[in-house]
Amino acid sequence: MPEVVFSVDQSLPMGQQKVPGHNRWHPDIPIAAEVNPGDEFRVECREWTDAQIGNNDSANDIRDVSLDRCHMLSGPIGIRGAEPGDLLVVDILDLGPVPQETGPAPGQGWGYTGIFAKVNGGGFLTDEFPDAYKAIWDFHGQQATSRHIPGVRYTGITHPGLFGTAPSHELLAKWNERERALIATDPDRVPPLALPPNETDVLAGTLTGSELAAVAREGARTVPARENGGNHDIKNFTRGSRVYYPVHVPGAKLSGGDLHFSQGDGEITFCGAIEMGGFIDFGVELIKDGMSKYNVQTNPVFMPGRVEPSYSKFLTFIGVSVNHSTNTNYYMDATIAYRRACENAINYLEQWGYSRPQAYLLLGSAPIEGRISGVVDIPNACCSLYLPTAIFDFDITPNAEGPRKADRGDCAVTS
Ligand code: ZN
Repeated sequence: MPEVVFSVDQSLPMGQQKVPGHNRWHPDIPIAAEVNPGDEFRVECREWTDAQIGNNDSANDIRDVSLDRCHMLSGPIGIRGAEPGDLLVVDILDLGPVPQETGPAPGQGWGYTGIFAKVNGGGFLTDEFPDAYKAIWDFHGQQATSRHIPGVRYTGITHPGLFGTAPSHELLAKWNERERALIATDPDRVPPLALPPNETDVLAGTLTGSELAAVAREGARTVPARENGGNHDIKNFTRGSRVYYPVHVPGAKLSGGDLHFSQGDGEITFCGAIEMGGFIDFGVELIKDGMSKYNVQTNPVFMPGRVEPSYSKFLTFIGVSVNHSTNTNYYMDATIAYRRACENAINYLEQWGYSRPQAYLLLGSAPIEGRISGVVDIPNACCSLYLPTAIFDFDITPNAEGPRKADRGDCAVTS
């Protein structure tokens, strides 16, 4: 096992760890551990909400979750010799859930998928699903099952939802400027257009006093992906992947967490992956001046690993950029097209006895493939959603007899 350079006691919140992590992006958060190029090392992670969610049959904790504490990140890890303009080469050597018996923290033998309430962030289909729902998943080695979504078992593509380097002061100021401008176009929108800096529950490693106050005032929220990497939620960032992160500050300051046991493309329910705490093993190298050498300036590039489940048969749902109930056409809008593909899949799964929230939770967490299929055929963008048929313990494909509707229980709901 590689040396653990950032350790977490899963029975304690991040703020009470020996060396705490952080929950904002800011260049002044001090380095928690230092490594050399060429090193291999382990980082332990809390689940992204800092374990606000329990292994139970109520979605009240999803409804009431505080996003001010999220995402709870491990790091920053300083890489000796890294300078702005370099590319930080990060190999994801291995990752997995908390290596302990089933216990109270997500990752200890179980994880969860949540549909966030519209008043608390919402999700991709929040207009149809304004309330909170949850499914608990039990881990069986690399496979997951859920008492809340029976009839389904699948192999997860484990990956980190979120890793990135620290922004420079200049880059952070640009983020805050452009996101505030976006919010100003509709400041009262529910859910909001973006999350501005928020001084509640800010954690910035060991910082206290006026230094902590500065991070609280300026620190960028961790929800969107940006020029430092961040919350990509790319399910294919799995074991064996190599990521090339832009370096914006001395030491690069690599941080992250939000480990996922599995996720469908789009992570559509917002907390749509199977969320867990756990460990991730890295190797790092530097490409000096790599950002300009390769003209990788605004976002990382990466090479996916080859460790993935081999699902080969899919039932594929198609969506186009039309609102069918109002008969309205949207010009080349891939977001609307993918939403339609998701709804078409939910409509289909409902015929087999799943509730609509169960189907939505399944599409967020199972290894579904989402594709932008056509963006040139005016006026309709076309997206498709590939649902692997082998994850069901019954034949889900259409046939002449019609769907076998069964009692498939329900997910956790609010009370
Ligand atoms: Zn996540």
